[in-house]
Amino acid sequence: MPCKNCLQKPVIKLTNSNIQLCKQHFIKYFEKKVLNTISNYKLIEKGDRIGVAISGGKDSLTVLNILNLLKNKTKKFEIEAIAIDEGIKGYRDKTLENAKKFCKDNNIKLHIFSYKDEFGDTLDNFLKKVNMKACSICGPFRRYLLNKKSKELGFNKLATGHNLDDEAQTIIMNYFRRNIETSARLGPLTGIVNDKRFIRRIKPLYFMTQKEAATYAFLKNLSVEFNECPYSNESYRGDVMKMLNNFEAKYPGTKNSIITSFLEILPLLHKHYKNYTPINNCKICNEPCSQEICQTCKIVESFKKVKKD
Ligand code: SF4
Repeated sequence: MPCKNCLQKPVIKLTNSNIQLCKQHFIKYFEKKVLNTISNYKLIEKGDRIGVAISGGKDSLTVLNILNLLKNKTKKFEIEAIAIDEGIKGYRDKTLENAKKFCKDNNIKLHIFSYKDEFGDTLDNFLKKVNMKACSICGPFRRYLLNKKSKELGFNKLATGHNLDDEAQTIIMNYFRRNIETSARLGPLTGIVNDKRFIRRIKPLYFMTQKEAATYAFLKNLSVEFNECPYSNESYRGDVMKMLNNFEAKYPGTKNSIITSFLEILPLLHKHYKNYTPINNCKICNEPCSQEICQTCKIVESFKKVKKD
């Protein structure tokens, strides 16, 4: 069957439908859907100074590419890229090369911050010294650095490459872990209230599937290698991802239903959790957190103890 809109050979069959599209019409469909998300959820406003969190992988370069096209067309907002080097040999060094090349070719300012400079060592080396799962260190460290550095760089929003698959996984993980308050902060524009201590995140790929984002990146030649973090298999998210992929294969539309149902209850979650947990400033680093000491400082302090022992 040819492309729905012309007689060209299709490159993709869209999820949850029998529609097939050729390269040109798929790119048009993808960009239009992302721009609709930006406009329907008011993700970007005039005068915004947006940091785009990139890893050099397919999703983040897809977001950067589309926001850059939109910025050049409208001239209404600014973007700069921000990347975190966790220190994962054979993986992050490669994707960061990709990120640097993309930013150089497209004249986008790129800021890189590393765990080694900020916390004293690479993730690979931390894991040799402590008995912790990689993602339990890496997740808090990355969230912390992205928020802190975005404030220092004067960004008022942070765009990320999270797609429909990522969000469906996070929603299910939060249910399984009885962590609904965290879910209340999800959605295409994160956060419940405006608090200057937290940079709100925008997710332009919110309604695009993993398959669609990967196809777009491939067709636009954005990411050379689609390699995975070597630690991703041991993560809780990895298990939820496999489970949802199995469900999707057996019951197509599952992930889409998770997102649609979640967006229906999100306004109620916002209302319920609006003043639920007061936000403190961490007693060690002064960054915002829900307890006396933030998760990142707790981990850093535990590393210091290991050194002494
Ligand atoms: Fe970090 Fe885990 Fe993601 Fe790898 S999979 S980059 S260790 S959070």
